[in-house]
Amino acid sequence: MATYVPDMETQAIARNLMRRYSYLLGELNIEKIGFLKELDSPSKTKLAVTKRVDGATKIYYSDKDYIIIFFDQRWQELTPAQRNILVLHELMHCQADGESMRAHDVQDFYEIAAAFGADWCFNPTVRDPLGEEKVDLISKPANYGDEES
Ligand SMILES: [Zn+2]
Repeated sequence: MATYVPDMETQAIARNLMRRYSYLLGELNIEKIGFLKELDSPSKTKLAVTKRVDGATKIYYSDKDYIIIFFDQRWQELTPAQRNILVLHELMHCQADGESMRAHDVQDFYEIAAAFGADWCFNPTVRDPLGEEKVDLISKPANYGDEES
């Protein structure tokens, strides 16, 4: 049984991110986004999920375009920096039009993204895996899922 509660902490983080990264997040209306924590069921694969409110759910949540659910047991394991990045990530799924979801741009292996950056293919100064400096390729923790929202 999942327990959802409205969450002011993530909403406050979102407001700060909106102020600082207005050039990226722009016209997003934070009042149209519902911030929830899910307290009981730890998700093995997800830290959070963003859902668009549409169709039948719009009847009850007519004042929201999106709902972002943070899984609290995973949230507690994150550093403040990781929490802020996670909220930014979820906000970036939301669109100013309230009608669509932005999909992820990047798909890569964890070892490569962690060692060389997700932007390696656009970065001419990226480290060389066969260069002088040895690069450690580190696999993700075993309980870390493939599916991230
Ligand atoms: Zn995502």
